[in-house]
Amino acid sequence: MSQLTNGCQDSSKIFGENVFNQKLMKERLPKEIFKSLLRTIEKGEPLSIEVAGVVANAMKDWATEKGATHYTHWFQPLTGKTAEKHDAFISPTESGSVILEFSGKQLIQGEPDASSFPSGGLRSTFEARGYTAWDCTSPAFLKKDGAGNVTLCIPTAFCSYTGEALDKKTPLLRSMAALSKQAMRVLRVLGNKTANRVTSTVGPEQEYFLIDKKHFDKRPDLIMSGRTLFGAKSPKGQELEDQYFGSIRDRISAFMRDIDIELWKMGVSAKTKHNEVAPAQFEIAPIFSTTNIAADHNQLVMETLQKVAIRHGLVCLLQEKPFAGVNGSGKHNNWSMATDDGVNLLDPGTTPHENEQFLIFLSAVTKAVDTHADKLRASAANPGNDLRLGANEAPPAIISIFMGSELTEIIESLSKGKPTRSHGQHFLRIGVDSLPDLPKDNTDRNRTSPFAFTGNKFEFRMVPSSASISGPNIVLNTIVAEALDEIATKLESASKKDLNKVCEQIVTGIFKKHSRIIFNGNNYSAEWIKEAKRRGIPNISSTVEALGYMANESAEKLFAKYHVLSKHELHSRYEIYLEHYIKTINIETQCSISMAKRLYIPTVIRYTEQLAEGILNLKKAGTSTTVQEELLRKITSHLESAGKKLVALEAKGKKAAGIADFLARAEEYRDKVVPAQLALREDIDALEEVLPAEVWPVPTYAEMLFGD
Ligand code: ADP
Ligand code: MG
Repeated sequence: MSQLTNGCQDSSKIFGENVFNQKLMKERLPKEIFKSLLRTIEKGEPLSIEVAGVVANAMKDWATEKGATHYTHWFQPLTGKTAEKHDAFISPTESGSVILEFSGKQLIQGEPDASSFPSGGLRSTFEARGYTAWDCTSPAFLKKDGAGNVTLCIPTAFCSYTGEALDKKTPLLRSMAALSKQAMRVLRVLGNKTANRVTSTVGPEQEYFLIDKKHFDKRPDLIMSGRTLFGAKSPKGQELEDQYFGSIRDRISAFMRDIDIELWKMGVSAKTKHNEVAPAQFEIAPIFSTTNIAADHNQLVMETLQKVAIRHGLVCLLQEKPFAGVNGSGKHNNWSMATDDGVNLLDPGTTPHENEQFLIFLSAVTKAVDTHADKLRASAANPGNDLRLGANEAPPAIISIFMGSELTEIIESLSKGKPTRSHGQHFLRIGVDSLPDLPKDNTDRNRTSPFAFTGNKFEFRMVPSSASISGPNIVLNTIVAEALDEIATKLESASKKDLNKVCEQIVTGIFKKHSRIIFNGNNYSAEWIKEAKRRGIPNISSTVEALGYMANESAEKLFAKYHVLSKHELHSRYEIYLEHYIKTINIETQCSISMAKRLYIPTVIRYTEQLAEGILNLKKAGTSTTVQEELLRKITSHLESAGKKLVALEAKGKKAAGIADFLARAEEYRDKVVPAQLALREDIDALEEVLPAEVWPVPTYAEMLFGD
């Protein structure tokens, strides 16, 4: 492998070197086996155990040649992280030696002990077995850990004994199938004869913070909860806006190079990297791929960011709001739909026919988002995002669509039956005329919108930085499948000669009914909150409230109808996420209490004692002590206040923890415990501002954000 002098490696050579991709399969598998596997990958045909056996053997040979000793079924339980249990390839022989073995059964199915994963009551702990099943549409890859161990990772879905989904992948695959089915119905009526499948495509842009590990290690709040629970504002924040797209520091640049190399080897097409708005904040984006691969790869991106950071003496923070007062992190989920022969269904195209197809799919997304804004909002809910959404940096908690002025004008003309600007007095006929040109550049961007059309895809910007992207994409795929289902049913009953007219009716009808969801203005403004209320668009401000919408009657019906999640599965998820909220806030509470008791208050007491002693000495020497006495008074007053608030926080935490009902407990944490925590923080942060820097027990915001 070529190693350039500056340490960079030839990216075309290393890209995918640790992936068992189709090229390798073709090389290493007998022709018939390869063809059969391809039919499973592309058409979902069942995989026979014989074929699996040959594939497994080829996979094992390739992996062991590259140094792998173990394999793992790599899956995504509802913790939002990935899980793996490693098994060695070795198998004993009668002669007492070992051979390396990996059977078809071991490839396609695993039985990890699943009792410690959250199941929300789907799998009682005495029935600990869970099943993992190979997702052959996401390629197997090799992962190397810091100790040099190489493991063959097989992306898998994770289900209970009774076949119920216990993970993020299973419903994602189901939602992709639902979308494909309905989109294909629409395409067929519109005369498409070449496509066989439609997949949703996703390119997730990942934001993150990097801070020096020596600072991280001194902050129990970062260690325990991933965010600072205390910390006075730094004298400099992001107001100068000098970080965004700024030149990347050498240390960070070295880190980013390593990240790229690690990811490229695993076939993750990391492409874009830049500084973000906040100090110490960055972004990485891959080239888009099919949704399940994008979701798998995003997990690898998050994991690799954290792993490689440590190697560079850095810590990567993925939490949504690590620092109060500076921008938080999100994930921009760029989403579209494409046919298997490469047509992007949200690309306006140039011919009347392409335009017609585009408008049909655009209207489907509009209808879906307006009808199910609450579910989309719920899919982006997590405790970290509660601190971010609606703040002056992230989209508000209200879902709306940004279409851009040109497209909005076209939509308005269409739905009012008015002549369009670019066509003079001519009335635009869908499927007969071409649409006026839409600007394809970035000038017409609205950064404040939670759901923005960006030329040939939608960008869902509300997604939390630390979470799996599966949840939001499950919802997107399913709600658009429903809209397409209704559209397909109407189109299918139209006669061929009426097709254009019916298309027009469908598109204009949808835009008339659902245009309230389109908003091109400033989503951060107070007027929009009022306007959204007037339009009847939900404004769901907290996770606890949002989660209610993911398991209500409307959600039950929707997800059951498209076989994405049964009522039972949906409710188990609701419980798991609510419990996760409760646990997260409880950890933050306990950590706040412990830091106040063991770090801040003792430090302040010690300092007041020193100060008082100094005052006495100075008095003896006949020197003025007014400044010292004023400072002592101020510190004592905050100290007393902090003492009281600490007692209050402990009591509120205890009360909340004792509430039996899940929802009531979560609400109590949100309404009583979180504010009590913030109240305590006020005094501690005020103390940080007046105590000498050298006595403060933890690194400050300025040190963490601007230090080296
Ligand atoms: P931005 O200006 O928002 O950074 P980019 O053009 O860099 O926009 O794209 C951001 C992400 O969108 C990338 O991951 C890119 O691959 C992805 N993307 C581009 N086209 C599509 C598509 N058709 N479907 C899904 N994602 C896409
Ligand atoms: Mg973007």
